[in-house]
Amino acid sequence: MTAGTDESVRHRVLLVGWDGVRDDTARGLQLPALGGLAAAGRWWTTTLPDVDVAPTWTAVGWSTILTGVGPDEHGVMGNDAELNRLHRYPEVLTTAYCERPTLNTYGAASALIFGTAHGPGPLFGPGVRTVDWVDRREYPGKFTETDLVIQEAAERQLREHDPDLAFVYLGEADQIAHEIGTGDEYEAAIRRQDGRLGRLIAAVRGRPRFAQENWLVMVTTDHGHRDGGGHGGGTWQERQSFVVAGLITDDPVAPPAAWADHAENVDIAPTILSHLGIPLPSRFRGGVCASHDRVLHRLHLDRGGAAVRGVPVVLADRRRAPDAPEECRIPHPCPRRTRRLRLHPGVGVRVR
Ligand SMILES: [Zn+2]
Repeated sequence: MTAGTDESVRHRVLLVGWDGVRDDTARGLQLPALGGLAAAGRWWTTTLPDVDVAPTWTAVGWSTILTGVGPDEHGVMGNDAELNRLHRYPEVLTTAYCERPTLNTYGAASALIFGTAHGPGPLFGPGVRTVDWVDRREYPGKFTETDLVIQEAAERQLREHDPDLAFVYLGEADQIAHEIGTGDEYEAAIRRQDGRLGRLIAAVRGRPRFAQENWLVMVTTDHGHRDGGGHGGGTWQERQSFVVAGLITDDPVAPPAAWADHAENVDIAPTILSHLGIPLPSRFRGGVCASHDRVLHRLHLDRGGAAVRGVPVVLADRRRAPDAPEECRIPHPCPRRTRRLRLHPGVGVRVR
């Protein structure tokens, strides 16, 4: 059986982005939802590259996570509008959609870089077919208010609609750290993020056809914070990150999963595509860190264009870059479908 094509079980992915959540803080909080997810999978502590390579700014972190390549390739080195190569490195939702136009892709966020041309944005490419968008500038409490709107919209989408690949961004913890550092209020904000994760997972489990679905749920963050709040530099507190992945399914015949010993943030995009049964573009620099099959494997296209399972990934080879950088391209023109864009109250900016 070709991975990802078993018609009796639909493979789906939810990626939840928590902005600016320190790994050491999150681990110390005994978070029920994140800990429960890791118990069904893995929690990898990751360290961002040296600050000369990847400054610990928000736009840099999410560009890397969503494109599957580092700043040396996507070119985003800060939050400001500078020349970059994002147009050559589409984010993973657009990559997945262009490879399989029947996919329902969904993005929900209130940070400017995802939905507007602010800085290097918008990070949501044309393949994010349904977008729930809130402009945090329109709310006095910023993320402390808009995370609630995003949460409710995402829950509704997961429960009532049919997303194959969803990305939900929550920014409150980062905002609290900037305002008052990484103390009790920061920890309380992370607990609230965990409660929201729990509600998203409950929405997944409550889906009408959940028994026929196999969900890969991943959670990550773009950077850490200094103790007193703030990031962008190269301290270990700022460079710490994490990747948590778990499989959520009631499928009684689901094969056992395989998990890599190590993971990095660039592994998230290839892992998502692998779960969906979509071949990995050779431009990816990371590897597959979680598999619903027994082995970690790469997918490639056979001569007829079908996805076939390649050789198991040898972990030692996972970091090996291709001999020559690939000219990034969408393999075939994306069919034009009407994009559903839901603007929430208080919105003054449209997604391009
Ligand atoms: Zn951030």
